Amino acid sequence: MCGIIGYIGKENATPIIFEGLKKSEYRGYDSAGISVSEGGRLMTVKAKGKLSALERLLEALPYSHLGIGHTRWATHGEPNEINSHPHLSTDGKFAIVHNGIIENAAELRRFLCDRGFEMVSDTDSEVIAHLLEYYYHGDMLAAIKSTALKLKGAYALAILSSYTDELYAVKKDSPLIIGLGKNESVITSDIAALPSQCKEYLLPEDNEIGVITEGKAVIYSLGGEPVEKPYFINSGTSDESDKLGYPHYMLKEIFEQPAALENTLAGFSEPDLPKSALSAVILCGCGSAYHAALLSSRYFSRLGVPVSVMYASEFRYCDPLIDSDTLFIAISQSGETADTLFSLRLAAEKGAMTAAVVNVANSSIYREAQIKIPTRAGREIAVATTKGFTTQVEALRLFSAYLTLKAKKITPEEFSLAKSEIAAAASALKTMLSDLKIYQKTAYDIFSAKNIFFIGRREDYALAKEGALKLKEISYIHAESYPAGELKHGTISLIERGSICFAPVTCADLKEKMLSNIKEITARGGSVYVITPFRETFSADAKVLPIPTDGAVYCAASVMQLIAYYTASLKGLDIDKPRNLAKSVTVE
Ligand code: GLU
Repeated sequence: MCGIIGYIGKENATPIIFEGLKKSEYRGYDSAGISVSEGGRLMTVKAKGKLSALERLLEALPYSHLGIGHTRWATHGEPNEINSHPHLSTDGKFAIVHNGIIENAAELRRFLCDRGFEMVSDTDSEVIAHLLEYYYHGDMLAAIKSTALKLKGAYALAILSSYTDELYAVKKDSPLIIGLGKNESVITSDIAALPSQCKEYLLPEDNEIGVITEGKAVIYSLGGEPVEKPYFINSGTSDESDKLGYPHYMLKEIFEQPAALENTLAGFSEPDLPKSALSAVILCGCGSAYHAALLSSRYFSRLGVPVSVMYASEFRYCDPLIDSDTLFIAISQSGETADTLFSLRLAAEKGAMTAAVVNVANSSIYREAQIKIPTRAGREIAVATTKGFTTQVEALRLFSAYLTLKAKKITPEEFSLAKSEIAAAASALKTMLSDLKIYQKTAYDIFSAKNIFFIGRREDYALAKEGALKLKEISYIHAESYPAGELKHGTISLIERGSICFAPVTCADLKEKMLSNIKEITARGGSVYVITPFRETFSADAKVLPIPTDGAVYCAASVMQLIAYYTASLKGLDIDKPRNLAKSVTVE
């Protein structure tokens, strides 16, 4: 979601903070701002809209070695200049940037207003700055501690005060990283925004406070005790954030999928399982990660135990039945998806074994799960996931094969076969991506449509859901996905002359059933694009977008990514940063 940056060091803070904001721009935001501390004064600039609007104001800021910045994704109060962060206290001596949601903000506003503090914005975040002023009696650590104890909800905070020459950070249920360089330190909510000169970083846990100086940070518990933390090496490379000649990150990332599949396969190590007898498997994620879970649930069903797939935002509130033999698998590209993180914690509290399929190592979900299954897609910058999704499907395939091997439901040869199928998928996808004309042509045919349907059965239903989501996310065309057999139970009433439908068909055993459903559509004047390796089954009734037999699932997903991409491109849309969306959804 939004990005937080804080800097303290020998350099001028403003350009470094602005660079950090640019690096987290891909996450989605609606406004931005920076505060710096200079000679006992805090100076702030804010702007609605893109960072270019903020850039025009930066020259108003003085040279300073200490500052904080923010890109906001509004949750409380419309995106405008006043609601942008940083927020200041009534006396102007404290500035904060906040990622998350303060759930008791209304109550805290009343508390503060009754005591003479003046709120200027509609945000939940502003109360934090005023609380710091209220609780400050010469000791910043004590003021931050008292403030944190008052807050309900989720937060990552970077704090500046004109009383001191230090930077402060505190977090609960939101990511926060403290990077350390030779004579400088950086706070960020996104590892991708950590500058390369910060060779090491610390990860504060919930309710820990960082007091940060040039190249150093001391972490305290809320009780005021210093806490020893491990130092991690910053291995981020800058060329990952280069488009390498592609017009958009999304296209670059689509093309990176064969290598991402190969890397995930090469990096798959057989995890230590706390137990091998399972009573149930729960797969849990949000958005595309949910679709990866749905698609992969069939792989897990070979374990012979109940397998369920749940949206993380629903799982948290459904009082799930879990015992200590339940395996709970959280799936998240960023490893910071708030709903998925909270679901993982709930499953752990109830005694489940927990596993995480995550792309960003050292993220919260990755750290907290007992079993870690990394996807090695590399950094994904486009908001709409591509290689993140396909490598999740792959990692779940490998993990399920490993579990079924351990449960003696498949032989070692079958396990090796699962791995070689993935290697073959990567190479088939590489070949498929060498000719894009058919996808460009298809996009041209559909880009003016108002509604598009996606249908599929079993794994292909999950693919249909992902295809529809991809199109909606970036081309803003309304798309509906249905299990193919469900159409006639209602939705077929929407099919008329000119209706457009996509049908991924990778399940060989269901292709005849799919053909019947496709005929139901064409008989009513609709036209169907079938994405399939079974060209001969469909060519008389539909337009076939052929895919290879090897890796058909990955290839079908990639075809729908490409069609969504070229459709959005024809409409001239902001493909890498679609409206209203954020890359890493760190709020509930
Ligand atoms: N809830 C805060 C706001 O609406 C912070 C949102 C964010 O994380 O960007 O200002």
